[in-house]
Amino acid sequence: MLAVAVVVLVAVLWWLCSSWRDAVCSRAVGLLPGVRAPLLLIAHPDDECMFFAPTIFGVLQGQRPLSVLCCSTGNYYNQGETRKKELIQSCAALGIAPSNVTLIDHSELPDSPSVKWDERLLSSLILNHIREKNIDLVITFDEGGVSGHSNHISLYHAIRSLHDSGKLPKGCSVLVLESVSIFRKYISILDLLLSWLYGQDVLFISSGRQYKQAKEAMWHHQSQLLWFRHIYLFFSRYMMINTLHFLHDEKAEKKS
Ligand SMILES: [Zn+2]
Repeated sequence: MLAVAVVVLVAVLWWLCSSWRDAVCSRAVGLLPGVRAPLLLIAHPDDECMFFAPTIFGVLQGQRPLSVLCCSTGNYYNQGETRKKELIQSCAALGIAPSNVTLIDHSELPDSPSVKWDERLLSSLILNHIREKNIDLVITFDEGGVSGHSNHISLYHAIRSLHDSGKLPKGCSVLVLESVSIFRKYISILDLLLSWLYGQDVLFISSGRQYKQAKEAMWHHQSQLLWFRHIYLFFSRYMMINTLHFLHDEKAEKKS
C-alpha cells in the first residue's frame, strides 16, 4: 500500500514538475537580471553533471554563454588524462562548448577528499580567470560542498574570501549551491515540495528531457560509473533540483 502511495506521489510530482517547470525556471532566470558571462566553478570532472545540471540548463535557457572552470583533473586514482577528455564530452552533452571549458592541472591542487586546497593560490587562479573572461556571476558549492568533499569546500572558501575582501570585479556576484541533508539528497523529485518551501534565492528544476540529458552527460564519465553512481543518478535530487543563494556580506549575515 505504501509503495503504491509513493508511486502515485512521484507520478503527481512529475506531472506538477513538467506542468509548472517553465514558470518556476523562468522566474529563477528572472532573478539573474543582466547577467552576461556566468561561470560554473567546480573541483572535479563530473561535478558539472552530478550536482549542477539543473543550474546549467536554467542558465543556458537564458541564452547566456556559460563557461566552466574545473580546478583539478580528478587524478585521485591516476585517471586525470582520461577525466580531462570526459569533462569536455560531458560539457558538450550538456550544451557547453569545449572552448568554454577550462581545466586547471596544478600539483598543489590535488584531487583528494582529505586535502584542503591552499586558499591564497586558489583565490588567485580563480580571480585571474574571472578577470580574463569578464565574468559577472560565479556559481559554485556552498560551505557544505554538497558531498562534504574538502576540494568542493575549498572552492567555497576561496570565493567567499574574494567576495568578502572586495577583490571580485565590480558587479560580479556569487551564487552557491545549497547542501541539503542526506535524507533530502536521496529522495529525488520527492524533494520538490521542500525545495519550494525552503528554497533559497534561486530554484532550478529540470524537465524529464533534461534529466535524461544529464544522465547521458554522465555516461561520458565512464571512468566514474561505478555501481553506486548508478544509484546516485537515479535517487539524487541534484540530478533534477538545484536550490542556490547569493553570497552577501558575511558580517551582515551573522548579524541578521
Ligand atoms: Zn567533486
